[in-house]
Amino acid sequence: MLQQQLCMSLSADPTPSPTPGTVAYREYDFHDREEDVEQALNDLLARTKDGLLHVLIDEAYFGGRQKYGPTHSTFVTRLCQSVPGLYLWAASVVHTDIPPELRPEPLTVPLRCAPSVLREITPAIERYQTSIHNYSNSGVPAPGDGLSVIRLSHHGNAHTGRWPVDCAQCGQDIAAELHRLGVGNTLCYRDVFVLTRSSDLQDDISDDGGRVVSPASPVVRGLRAAGLPVCVLSKKNKANAPRLERDLQDVALATTDRLTVAYYGYLHGMERRVVVVLSGRNQYHDLSQTDDSIEVFDRLEAASRCTTQLIMVPTPTPTTETNTTAATFAIATTTSKYIDTIPRTSRDEDNPSCIVQ
Ligand SMILES: [Zn+2]
Repeated sequence: MLQQQLCMSLSADPTPSPTPGTVAYREYDFHDREEDVEQALNDLLARTKDGLLHVLIDEAYFGGRQKYGPTHSTFVTRLCQSVPGLYLWAASVVHTDIPPELRPEPLTVPLRCAPSVLREITPAIERYQTSIHNYSNSGVPAPGDGLSVIRLSHHGNAHTGRWPVDCAQCGQDIAAELHRLGVGNTLCYRDVFVLTRSSDLQDDISDDGGRVVSPASPVVRGLRAAGLPVCVLSKKNKANAPRLERDLQDVALATTDRLTVAYYGYLHGMERRVVVVLSGRNQYHDLSQTDDSIEVFDRLEAASRCTTQLIMVPTPTPTTETNTTAATFAIATTTSKYIDTIPRTSRDEDNPSCIVQ
């Protein structure tokens, strides 16, 4: 949305200008092109005004667990060394990885979720408090407690498969609940995310002739059978990158009135009034994780996208499976929290605080 708004400003005044206060659009590839870091630094330094620079980074990773973590760290460290008046807001940061040149000021006021939703997220944060700050009691009263969390059951004769994503009945049950909430009537379909960690989620896969060679996941078929317009963003969409990019942009701008069923790794930073969380495993990453550990991810990365009405669809723990692996892993903070960091070397105490929402 922010990118879209800046591009609108740019189209209103497309004259290229290097001066501060004007919009310039640049794309850099920090993932695969190290030389882009140098270029980005030069371009930003050229727009520094009176020794001040304000930078906002979404989905920043500074640790070594991600390929671009060291690159992000280098970029921020070089900025700190070059601009004494640097103010940097970074969302979704594991605070144990922050470069030492930054003096962190955690902003932990809950900005997105109703208290009823926060109560689903905070137990997960408390389990991993060594790398994630918990929400603070801001003293700013919420407008209300929010709607009670709805819990659906993937259990019973009509339900199939180990996980809700494999179950058409879960799709039907979710659709019935959404209709009861007024989705498609007082609420739009675009107000709803159905999110999962499952790498098995997929839409219909067709051959070049348009013939479906692999049908959509049962939960998607269940939603469509109930008449809901559905867009699917799955890891298997990666095979069609241009379509995935179009769909992501469409979801980010909420252009089309349709419900989004997605692998939640694609929707960092986005939010919706109604969020349905389907428990599920990522078969590439989670083989050593317990169901309990995966539930933590679901709460931090999926439930935290919800502003108002959360619907959880857990998976009953199979009695025959032993879950003894205490896996060690780190988790990014939810993007509903932000860390405001400034250089250790300089801080203007009189500078008014900035609020990012
Ligand atoms: Zn089910």
